[in-house]
Amino acid sequence: MRRSSKDRKSEIVPSRSVCIKFAGQDLPNFVSLFDTKHAVSCYIPEIRTCYNCYRDGHISKACRSNARCMRYDEAPHPDSNDCSLKDVPPRCINCNKGHLPTSNNCPLVIK
Ligand SMILES: [Zn+2]
Ligand SMILES: [Zn+2]
Ligand SMILES: [Zn+2]
Repeated sequence: MRRSSKDRKSEIVPSRSVCIKFAGQDLPNFVSLFDTKHAVSCYIPEIRTCYNCYRDGHISKACRSNARCMRYDEAPHPDSNDCSLKDVPPRCINCNKGHLPTSNNCPLVIK
């Protein structure tokens, strides 16, 4: 199953893909499952941004850093309006450019 969003509603629909792990580096072009041939392609997971430290590549459950404010290296605030930096342009902790680390415009996320 996979999550699909339509008209701002998200629902769980049957997936047309299966996830298979191969014990090796070389991928075959096809695999046969239940007498059906399936094309094989490499799975690139969606990038995950940690909502604890706002670095890319792990989730907050797996985070071993201290929590921080998403705008820069300062302690987090229970209310984002308390942020002393809320009126200055944000700086991304992952690439140092002018956006929030949760932005989809981050070149690291795009990469
Ligand atoms: Zn983290
Ligand atoms: Zn802040
Ligand atoms: Zn960035």
